[in-house]
Amino acid sequence: MIAMQSIRAYIGLGSNLGDRAATIIQALTMLDEIPGIQVVQISQLIETSPVGGPPDQSNYINGAAELRCSLSAEELLEQLLAIEKQMGRERVQPWGPRTLDLDILLFGNEIIDKPHLKVPHPLMQTRRFVMIPLSQIAPDVVHPLLGSTMRQIQCALEQP
Ligand code: AMP
Repeated sequence: MIAMQSIRAYIGLGSNLGDRAATIIQALTMLDEIPGIQVVQISQLIETSPVGGPPDQSNYINGAAELRCSLSAEELLEQLLAIEKQMGRERVQPWGPRTLDLDILLFGNEIIDKPHLKVPHPLMQTRRFVMIPLSQIAPDVVHPLLGSTMRQIQCALEQP
């Protein structure tokens, strides 16, 4: 039997509506139930102030998770979008409040630059709410374009 190739992927999770932590935990449970996806590690969940968007948004809960994935990045994105939809994410305004936001941050060392899918996530290295949880679970993983580890990227964000 030929073993299916399994990729180590990292995703970012965020929620700022409803029971935010419960939504994130439920999304991870749903992901883990999908054939070809295994949730291996989950960061602590942190509360963060909204970045951009309307001024009156409430705080987010953010986290990151490591997956073992035998799907393609495109297939993983489809699954993430389906879970966002199932969890009732409303896309009322760009950058606005959302029940659940799921992003592919890293997909092994793959570099993908398509209109609907960019990996590594192009803004991850600029966002503390992504890098704090990600560097907890993947401190020594190297960003395939920047050549720095997650810990180095996160430390750079903490510099004044
Ligand atoms: P947003 O809701 O602002 O996170 O944007 C979601 C859309 O971004 C999705 O419909 C994807 O097609 C697109 N997208 C591009 N790159 C990524 C990525 N790395 N992870 C998740 N969504 C992505």
